[in-house]
Amino acid sequence: MEPKTIKKIGVLTSGGDAPGMNAAIRATVRAGFFYNLEMYGIYRGYEGMINNEIKKLESKNIAHILERGGTFLKSARSAEFRTSEGRKKAYENLQKHGIDALVVIGGDGSLTGAHLFFQEFGIPAIGLPGTIDNDLSGTDSTIGFDTACNTAIQAIDKIRDTATSHDRLFFVEVMGRDAGFIAINAGIGSAAAATLIPEKKMPIERLVERLKARTKALKQSNIVIVAEGGKSGGAAEIATKIKKLLPYYDIKVTILGHLQRGGSPSSFDRVLASKLGVAAVEGLMQGKYDVMAGVINNKIVFTPITKAIVDDKEVDEDDFRIAKILST
Ligand code: ATP
Repeated sequence: MEPKTIKKIGVLTSGGDAPGMNAAIRATVRAGFFYNLEMYGIYRGYEGMINNEIKKLESKNIAHILERGGTFLKSARSAEFRTSEGRKKAYENLQKHGIDALVVIGGDGSLTGAHLFFQEFGIPAIGLPGTIDNDLSGTDSTIGFDTACNTAIQAIDKIRDTATSHDRLFFVEVMGRDAGFIAINAGIGSAAAATLIPEKKMPIERLVERLKARTKALKQSNIVIVAEGGKSGGAAEIATKIKKLLPYYDIKVTILGHLQRGGSPSSFDRVLASKLGVAAVEGLMQGKYDVMAGVINNKIVFTPITKAIVDDKEVDEDDFRIAKILST
């Protein structure tokens, strides 16, 4: 598409928050200033676009946010933006401010919204993959995924200390409703006895066999990682089933929950978010619309949003095989 002249860019974070979103905002805004553009913060995602929570940003607004978790622009889920009336209101607000392009930082839902908005109103938009789930195609890693894995592994290390002291069997639930990326990484990185992910069903009998074999091998602690969207249920459900089959085990359940979303972003996420923020502004200036910026093999890549949100990114078979080899 022929590049339009872009003078004012709005940036927003939407959907579930992820560590590194602030770093992505900062890089987007800094890059905009570098190219003499006016930059606008849209607060509370699409909800703020509908409610006109839009402010012109200055350098001081983005000082010292690179290292901070969460998103200073706040995030939200907006039911109204799913309606054409809601999107029309949002468009009218952008018009009021003269905003002629958008950078949307969020997961697949947020990017779907940006795509629809572009189709309906022709507002050039670039999406940045901001989600701890790593479930977007068009990038090796999403912003926040690495930090969430580090957080999960650090928490599991602590659980192992107490598991070992009491010879307990722990079921640790990590985030991942539809994707097992955090689970498989946490499983490999914390020497789990087994990892249960949404993409694969592990029959309960196989898990029982695995645990029995480990007991025979005198393993000192057993930690089973369960992705929240696991095919056999969440950690509590599986623990109940196992308790009936192996009543002599002292079983505990820990759900890591929202702590996986928080904290200062890792070095990896800061660098990824920074590269992608600059890529978003440069991409818009070059006429790359309706795409998501990602990094594949260490190179910036622009993928049509419709392709990036397709639900075909799954845990690598090799990662699953490696986790299995290392847990026996
Ligand atoms: P996460 O992966 O962390 O859940 P997400 O971006 O996928 O993040 P969603 O709640 O799915 O989170 O989407 C965020 C917002 O994007 C929604 O609240 C809604 O406003 C908008 N959105 C999602 N899907 C659509 C759609 N089909 N049409 C219009 N807007 C949408």
